[in-house]
Amino acid sequence: MKLCRFAEDRLGLVEESGVRDITTALDVLGCCFPYPLPRHDILIANLEKVKARICELAPSAPVIPLHGLKLLSPVANPGKIVAAPVNYRRHLEEVRDNPELHQGNPAHTASIQSIGLFLKATSSLVGPGEGIALRKLDRRNDHEVELAFVIGKEARGVAASEALKYVAGYAIGLDITIRGAEDRSFRKSPDSYTVLGPWLVTADEIPDPGALDLSISVNGETRQSSNTRYMILGVPELIEFASSFYTLYPGDIVITGTPEGVSPIAPGDVICARIEKIGEMQVQGRAA
Ligand code: MN
Repeated sequence: MKLCRFAEDRLGLVEESGVRDITTALDVLGCCFPYPLPRHDILIANLEKVKARICELAPSAPVIPLHGLKLLSPVANPGKIVAAPVNYRRHLEEVRDNPELHQGNPAHTASIQSIGLFLKATSSLVGPGEGIALRKLDRRNDHEVELAFVIGKEARGVAASEALKYVAGYAIGLDITIRGAEDRSFRKSPDSYTVLGPWLVTADEIPDPGALDLSISVNGETRQSSNTRYMILGVPELIEFASSFYTLYPGDIVITGTPEGVSPIAPGDVICARIEKIGEMQVQGRAA
């Protein structure tokens, strides 16, 4: 099942013919939560219940053409956004070779096993229809295309062999990055610098996330093209690594690192990212 969020917080089921508006399936979540709200995303935490309701509603739900819909992040309220640094060997090599990328900071060229994972601000999250508001235009802003996955149930100390059971689904992630000497979490967290979309593909449709072609083009020119088999830590290993340090909650987003070919983007650029079995999304850059 491919689930999108669009327009003003509508929920959609993506089909060949278009998008079925199945927003009323959210009624199964109930409307009132006592303060404080849970740490997890309530749609993802109740995904099985929502999916069952979607199956009932879909046949009679109106179909809207996909083209022209403003797509939002398929996860609205992630508790955290976990990110994998330098998780493709050839990207690590290109960073080590280029002072513009490593900025003389040893933390930018160390292995993922030694520096661990980092977090991006949840306020950086947008969907493809919202575009990227680029700032610090006197510095290099880069695209990074990444396989993203969404945690489906609480994960603590999970072994890699069991880890895929904790994934709710997959999406395309863009980890937009201002190059510089600051900590990754700071440079990669401006508003709109995490793009998730075009929709969430439920995990049953992608039994092996470790064999997916991924690519990105800017204004029609391909810049990155690789396959998730080249990840240093694959999806199961990333879950094992992350959940050995902290609990992962339903709706937490993990972006898995980018392959070689990162390059600058500027206001006006049209970015098109694709991942096999997920789809493609177009995102517009603009000045903040
Ligand atoms: Mn990245």
